[in-house]
Amino acid sequence: MEELQNEATRCLNCKTMPCHKACPLGNDIPSFIKAVKEGNLEEAYKILTKTTVLGAICGRVCPHFKQCMGSCVRGIKSEPINIGKLEAFVFDNALEKGYKLEKNSKLLGKKVAVIGGGPSGLTCSAFLAMNGAKVTIYEKQSKLGGITMYGIPDFRLPREVIEKTVNNILSLGIETKCNQELGKDYSLDEITKKYDAVYLSFGANVSAKMNIPGEDLNGVFGGNELLETGKHPDYRGKIVAVSGGGNVAMDAARTIKRMGAKKVYVIYRRAREQMPAEDYEVEEAMKEGVKFLFQNNILKILGNEKVEKLECIKTALVQREGETRLSPVNIEGSNYTIDMDYVVMAVGSKANKDVVEKTGLETTKYGNIKVDQKYMTSKEGVFAGGDLIGTKATVAWAARSGRNAAEEIMKYLI
Ligand SMILES: Cc1cc2nc3c(=O)[nH]c(=O)nc-3n(C[C@H](O)[C@H](O)[C@H](O)COP(=O)(O)OP(=O)(O)OC[C@H]3O[C@@H](n4cnc5c(N)ncnc54)[C@H](O)[C@@H]3O)c2cc1C
Repeated sequence: MEELQNEATRCLNCKTMPCHKACPLGNDIPSFIKAVKEGNLEEAYKILTKTTVLGAICGRVCPHFKQCMGSCVRGIKSEPINIGKLEAFVFDNALEKGYKLEKNSKLLGKKVAVIGGGPSGLTCSAFLAMNGAKVTIYEKQSKLGGITMYGIPDFRLPREVIEKTVNNILSLGIETKCNQELGKDYSLDEITKKYDAVYLSFGANVSAKMNIPGEDLNGVFGGNELLETGKHPDYRGKIVAVSGGGNVAMDAARTIKRMGAKKVYVIYRRAREQMPAEDYEVEEAMKEGVKFLFQNNILKILGNEKVEKLECIKTALVQREGETRLSPVNIEGSNYTIDMDYVVMAVGSKANKDVVEKTGLETTKYGNIKVDQKYMTSKEGVFAGGDLIGTKATVAWAARSGRNAAEEIMKYLI
């Protein structure tokens, strides 16, 4: 506690609040830090729960250096305030002590179904339930939490933290129907008939493909699916390539290395500075023995039935007009082959096409569910948010759209 209070004391309490502006959830960071400084952890929790119910998770996995901590004025000349650690501490303490989320009765008597219990669905449910709605979460898995539970590995986010967060949210009186999959166990039409409003938040956790020759060989996997299902091949003594440079690539590579692979390569088309993954994650992966092939691209996966080799090529980075980041261009003649046993695709995530099609809702050109400014889909009373509508794929942005949608659902129902 003393160490954290000392950290809080370093906060300059800037009038312009750049940290608050950089937080996707708009958390009142200076005020909660002030409360921590004064030793009032319950007050700090109350301040944070005006905007978030996922502090124990966000405090651990948000890309803080791209958000709040990246804009901390202290960080200009020295280390930024460790906002993530302070937020997690405030929530851990609250969950330990059993502080409850506050309720009112604005939506009393209104029934809302939430399909998908990840960060977005949980946040939407919590803000609706805090306002008195009777919420039921339908979830295809046996546990709630979404990718935080079935994706982000335990070594980054302990399962206990997710379970306590979920239980605290459910203690608002939210009903859950787990092992209930939209499109299989029930249809959207059936659900809309039973509820006053519906919030769709079933995510976008299907691995995108590179569309290169050999991608259908045995031994090629999607990173999202491996991490979601936990169904891995035996990597012991094998060489594995992970294609991509974001969270999924880092989590897959580190998990596979820990599972005994002889060599794990992360193959990324751009340079380290352009990687979407947090720098500390890359650092950790390197320490754990993962090898990085920056500015390399996979051209073909070679093999007879199963993966045997990769044909790769080196890339140069060029600035193209109208593009914000450098584009990789293959360097002619720099092709080479490398022995390989397994390939993991971590080059992007998309929504489940079958389930989306079965809803009959309008979609965007990227296959996400289309919503208007009020988070309403093409069907009256059916709202959507989180990764499913293509928000920036982070926990905090998914939660933000859940909270925004809850506000819009509230306006719709009152
Ligand atoms: C491996 C990995 C690591 C990541 N690491 C980070 C990180 O460190 N920091 C960060 O901020 N973000 C990270 N992200 C991104 C972040 O996890 C997502 O942006 C966020 O979880 C999206 O929340 P969501 O609620 O929209 O969707 P999800 O978390 O995907 O939740 C969707 C829920 O819907 C359920 N569902 C799916 N289909 C159905 C159906 N048909 N019927 C009923 N329920 C269904 C799912 O089981 C799931 O519980 C990571 C993503 C991945 C894949």
